Amino acid sequence: MDFIGGSRVLKTPLEKWIKAKIGTSATGAGLREEINRHQLLKLRETVDYARSRSPFYRKHLANFCGGDLHGLEDIGRLPFTTGEDILEDDLRFLCVSRNDIARVVTLNTSGTTSPAKRLHFTEHDLELTTDLFHHGMTTMVKPGQKVLILMPGDQHGSVGDLMVKALRRMDVEGIVHGIVRDEGRAIAEIIENNIDCVIGIPVQVLGLARHMAASVIGKGRIKSVLLSADYVPSTIVQEISSVWGCRVYNHYGMTEMGLGAAVDCRALSGYHIREADLYFEIIDPVTGCKLPDGEQGEVVFTTLTRKGMPLIRYRTGDLSGFIPEPCPCGTILKRLAWVKGRLCGQIKLGRHHWLNITELDEVLFTLPGIKNYRAVLLSDNGKDCLQITLHVGDKEGGIVSHVARKVLELVPAVRVALAERKLTIAPVCTSEDNWLTTGSIKRTIIDRRVEQICS
Ligand SMILES: [Zn+2]
Repeated sequence: MDFIGGSRVLKTPLEKWIKAKIGTSATGAGLREEINRHQLLKLRETVDYARSRSPFYRKHLANFCGGDLHGLEDIGRLPFTTGEDILEDDLRFLCVSRNDIARVVTLNTSGTTSPAKRLHFTEHDLELTTDLFHHGMTTMVKPGQKVLILMPGDQHGSVGDLMVKALRRMDVEGIVHGIVRDEGRAIAEIIENNIDCVIGIPVQVLGLARHMAASVIGKGRIKSVLLSADYVPSTIVQEISSVWGCRVYNHYGMTEMGLGAAVDCRALSGYHIREADLYFEIIDPVTGCKLPDGEQGEVVFTTLTRKGMPLIRYRTGDLSGFIPEPCPCGTILKRLAWVKGRLCGQIKLGRHHWLNITELDEVLFTLPGIKNYRAVLLSDNGKDCLQITLHVGDKEGGIVSHVARKVLELVPAVRVALAERKLTIAPVCTSEDNWLTTGSIKRTIIDRRVEQICS
C-alpha cells in the first residue's frame, strides 16, 4: 500500500468483494490464481450455457464447447461478438424466456434515425450491477451521506434506480435528479439537500462547476464526484477537483457490460474491474490478437455470470490497455487505463494523421468558462477545415478566437496537418446554446466532408 499526498491509499473495496463472491481467503499471488481459476470455470460454464440456450450462440459457437478451454488464453480461439450481431436480432441472444426479462435497454447507437440496439437483463443480472454499485461506492461515500445522481432513474433497472438501491444498502441516501437541463436547479438541489457526492456525465458536471451560481457551493461541501457514461478528459477532472476541492473518480461501463464494469480506487490512476463477473481482453483491432499489458488496443469483454443475454468476446470499440505496474492501493486486481476514445471516433486528417475528440477535449476545456463545444470537419477546396463552436458559460463570454486557435495548435495531428497545408481552422465561434449531453451517445467529431463531396 502506498502513500499519496501524505495519506495512505486504501485498497479498492472491489478486492474484498470479489474474494467473498468467489469464496476464497487467498491473498497476493494466490488470490490472482484463484481469480484466474474462477474466470476459467465461469468462461466454460458461460460457453456451454449460451450454446445450449441462445439460438445465436448455438450457431456462432457450433464448433466449440466449454471443455475446449484449458486456460484463459484459449478464449482467443472463440469468435468475437459485435454490436452488429445484436442489431441484427437481439432476441436470438436470449437464454431465458421473455417473461423472465426484467429490463430492456434500447440504445440509439449513432443517432435517432439509426436502428436501435436492445439489451435484455433478468432480475439476477440487475442485482449483479446493484451489488457492484454498492461495493464500488464505499470508496467514495460514508454512511449517513447524501448523493445526487445526475442520470436517469425513473425506470426499474435504470442506472439511477440501481444506484439508489445500492446506496440504501450502505445507509447512504441517493437522490435522482436526472440529466441536467437547468444547471441552476441542479445547484439549488445540491445546496438544499446538503449533498456530499455527485454522480454525473463529465461535461454536465463541468457545466455545474463553471456555472455562475457554482460559488455558492464553495469548497469542501462536496467530498467526491463520480464521472461516468462518457470519456473523462483530465482537464475536466482537474477543474472540478479544483473548484469544489473534492476527489474526482472515474467509472467505466457500458449498457452491454450491465451498465457498470470498472471504477477508480482512491489512487485515482486507473479502474479496477468487477473480475468475478466480467473477463476483459485488450486486442489489436486489426489482427484480433491479444496485446500484452501496457499496450493500447480495443477493449473486448465476456460476461461470466449473466443469465438473460450473456455476451462472449464482445468488441466494444473503446480504446484502452492494462497498466502493468501494480496499483498504489496494493490490490492484485488488474488495472485498466482510463478509456480515452473509440476506434470509430478517430477522424483522418490530411493523409496520415488521426484526430480524436479526446485530444480536442484536453486543450479546449482548459479555456476558462468553456462548458461544451461542437467540432465539425468540413471540406474546403481540397483541404480539411476544422470548425469549432464553443459553448461559453455565463461568466466568460469573451473567449477570443485566436486564443482558442492557439490551444488547438497544441494537438499534434492539428499542428502537423496545418504545417503540411492540409488543414485550415475556421474562426472559432462562441454560442450560448448548449448541446444536451445525455450519455446515451458519446460525444464525437462531426465529419461532414463526405456529405459535402456527395452533394
Ligand atoms: Zn487501486
